[in-house]
Amino acid sequence: MLLIALTLITLTGVITAGSVINDRAATRAQHSVELASVYLAAVADLQAEQSLKNEYQLRPGSATSAGHQGATVTLRAALEQVRALGSASDRRRVAAVLADQSKYVAATAALFAAVNRHEPRAVTNQLDATTVVPLLAVMQGQIYPGAIAVRKQALANVTQVRRTGRLVVWFDVATLLVGIATLMLAWRALRRSRLALQTQSDLNRHQALHDVLTGLPNRTLFQDRASQALRATQRTDQQVAIMIIDLDRFKDVNDTLGHQFGDLLLQQVAQRFEASLRGGDSVARLGGDEFAVLLPASNAADAHATAERLVETLTEPFDVRDISLDVDASIGIALAATDEDVDAVVRHADVAMYEAKAHHASVVTYSRRRDANTVTRLAVLGDLRRAIPAGEIVLHYQPKISAMTGELHSVEALVRWEHPTSGLLGPAAFMPVVENTAIVHLLTAEVLRLALSQCRAWLDQGRSIPICVNVSARSLLTKSFPQEVRDLLKLHGVPASLLTLEITESSIMSDPPRAYTIMKDLDAMGVTLSVDDYGTGYSSMARLKALPVKELKIDRRFVMGMAIDERDHFLVQSALDLGHNLGLQVVAEGVEDEWTRDALAAMGCDLLQGYYIQVPGTEAELETWLTGHGMEPVPSAVS
Ligand code: C2E
Ligand code: CA
Ligand code: CA
Repeated sequence: MLLIALTLITLTGVITAGSVINDRAATRAQHSVELASVYLAAVADLQAEQSLKNEYQLRPGSATSAGHQGATVTLRAALEQVRALGSASDRRRVAAVLADQSKYVAATAALFAAVNRHEPRAVTNQLDATTVVPLLAVMQGQIYPGAIAVRKQALANVTQVRRTGRLVVWFDVATLLVGIATLMLAWRALRRSRLALQTQSDLNRHQALHDVLTGLPNRTLFQDRASQALRATQRTDQQVAIMIIDLDRFKDVNDTLGHQFGDLLLQQVAQRFEASLRGGDSVARLGGDEFAVLLPASNAADAHATAERLVETLTEPFDVRDISLDVDASIGIALAATDEDVDAVVRHADVAMYEAKAHHASVVTYSRRRDANTVTRLAVLGDLRRAIPAGEIVLHYQPKISAMTGELHSVEALVRWEHPTSGLLGPAAFMPVVENTAIVHLLTAEVLRLALSQCRAWLDQGRSIPICVNVSARSLLTKSFPQEVRDLLKLHGVPASLLTLEITESSIMSDPPRAYTIMKDLDAMGVTLSVDDYGTGYSSMARLKALPVKELKIDRRFVMGMAIDERDHFLVQSALDLGHNLGLQVVAEGVEDEWTRDALAAMGCDLLQGYYIQVPGTEAELETWLTGHGMEPVPSAVS
């Protein structure tokens, strides 16, 4: 804008200056032309004076004398004009000529009188030759050079005007062209900057409505689209389906491999989700590992099929920087009734998703009836603080047996929550929420207390049954944890050798040096340490070797898959080899059938755990199993 204004000002300035210069030259030229013309008039009058004087001498007459007198008058007038228009030298010239003219008028009067008197020609000739003619000559000598000089000047000025005029025209044309060019450049620059501004504002808008990492729509855009879809559906008989997707094993990847891997994984997951959806459907990232899907025109069956398809896209492992990663998802679906708002539908999908997690189901569709029995994320934390002192936390037990002999080796304690309204809840329903808060310490302590008092009870019955307790990363990484364990062992009078702590590979990997220090402490105390869910945490052999662990538990997903998937079979075999090479006891969990049990035994696996051997159950259920396996209480020990 400034450039345009400057250009316009310069343009007008230059053109104005041109015309001013031109105007001045023209005024000067006009003036000199006027001066030249009055000079010419004076010359002509002088000539008329001379010829009329000569005429009178030859043929005297009143007409000639009057003509001569007229000439003297007009000459004077012309001279007066020269004086008015001319320069200082012109004025000096005029003064001299006027003085001579007065003398001349007197002399011609005397001459004409002599002629009238018919005086001898000699007298008149004498008068003429001595006074009149010399005076005329003097006047002519004064006026002629002046007239010539002024005429010359006038001609020069006119030429100058023409030249200046031409120059000004050229200059104006050039200025105009430069002006037009500058304006065009300024216009282009303006358009370009306006375009850049537009692009920037489009970008800002895009960023405000999209997730930076995956490029998917964010929560705001998702809600906007969902409410549009809801409004539109009021006019059709189709339903809007909203899904909330939570990745199940994403936290492990983030904890063990770092955020960069997590980010790359999320990008790939987003791509797969996007690719598997139909045209009008859309997927958004709500944050963390949570995604949402909107099906604007759907129904229960269609939404379920779409969700299954999304789960399917995750079966193939992800390749992130040459590391193969497995991810599962829990999907909650909610179908919108016409009178609902987006938030309500999203909340329903969220509830369904939590239910899917709690029941290890991939896809759950929301139903109002079930909602009353489902613990939502927020309710969990407040409830759990109350639940622990209220005794709602209980343990289920699952035996680990020797693969060779089938004898009981130990019992794993698995936490359950007897929720007053939701019923019995598995760890998946609340552990993911609890593990991110300090409440997990209370829970760990409670589970340890329950497990050790159970162990104490068995000891009191004369049965020495080792107990295995799962420990969350957050608890493990607390400095005071070994001391807490020591105090609890002492309190219940349980030897440390009867306690095994199962620590997931991913919790160790979230802060290896710290985990190492604490594990060293626990090991020194005589507590057995076991690496749980082995195969999912990407730990190196070198790191495992450095850890004071005695047991390796191969993750149940590989064990469960080994009958049908070569890769799982191979993984189990290599985990076994690795464990044995490091001098560790290897446990296979998730043994669900005879074939797997036999295969594991043949492969040299030390311990087995799984539904095929015994499903996790209450203390009473375990008791039945123990009795069936010849492990009833020793009567003498029971007082
Ligand atoms: P985990 O430590 O790997 O525990 C084994 C899980 O596998 C248990 O699920 C058990 O019920 C299940 N399972 C056992 N045998 C089979 C089988 O043959 N097939 C199948 N499909 N599953 C089998 P659960 O009790 O739901 O526990 C899930 C996870 O929750 C546990 O995995 C553990 O990581 C965590 N957890 C359980 N109790 C506690 C606890 O007291 N504290 C902490 N921090 N975590 C716990
Ligand atoms: Ca475990
Ligand atoms: Ca496990």
